[in-house]
Amino acid sequence: MRLSTDPAGSRPAPGAGGFDGAVTGTVRDGALDLLLGGACVGCARPGRLLCPGCRDELPAAATPAWPTPVPAGLVEPWAAAVYEGTARAMVLGLKERGLLGLAGPLGSLLAAAVSCELPRGGRVVLVPVPSRPRTVRARGHDPTRAVTLRAARLLRRGGLDVGVASLLRLRAGVVDQAGLDAAQRAANLRGSMRLRALAVRRAGFERRPARLVVCDDVLTTGSTAREAQRALEVAGLDVVRVAVVAATPRRISPAGHPG
Ligand SMILES: [Zn+2]
Repeated sequence: MRLSTDPAGSRPAPGAGGFDGAVTGTVRDGALDLLLGGACVGCARPGRLLCPGCRDELPAAATPAWPTPVPAGLVEPWAAAVYEGTARAMVLGLKERGLLGLAGPLGSLLAAAVSCELPRGGRVVLVPVPSRPRTVRARGHDPTRAVTLRAARLLRRGGLDVGVASLLRLRAGVVDQAGLDAAQRAANLRGSMRLRALAVRRAGFERRPARLVVCDDVLTTGSTAREAQRALEVAGLDVVRVAVVAATPRRISPAGHPG
């Protein structure tokens, strides 16, 4: 069977059962499920990792998403989605299940968070928050970096002068954030990131200044983003915003202001 997205190509030969296009699509997704064991992370429909219906429902724009309380000095954080439902399933699917096919749609969400209402002009450099090296080794990939790379590619296609630089690394001794409250997270993270000097040199900011955007998958308390911002600003770099795929629901403010 030919697995094609071209309706004409996937239409069965006359006399093969008379499927129409929609049924053929269902058969195709069913076949993909059998081949790949896949199902939509949003609605569990067999087939693609993200079905067209769930994909269409994803937000196309981003909003400011201040955490409560706001870490002192945090630049404006922007999120494309609320961390629930399909967006949450996508983040976890990539991070915990290694569903690399989700990096593209997650990249679209992050691209919206980076570019929404960002004043035009000049070079923009996306800085993914660093993951623990042990976690990256165990997963075999770095989801935050992968999504950031996809976002940059999309934004370049849209005409933005944007690159990605992994300028930060974690010091040893930082424990997993899960299960920690806001104060514990802040204490765990304070001073936890440092600049990768070689990466900073390679980025060539003296020759080509840039506005930096700290990128992460999820914003919860904001302490991770704040620490990344701190580490970059110590070197005199210009951090203009934090961009995330999704922010935890109670921290989204419809008015776009802290509180
Ligand atoms: Zn779906």
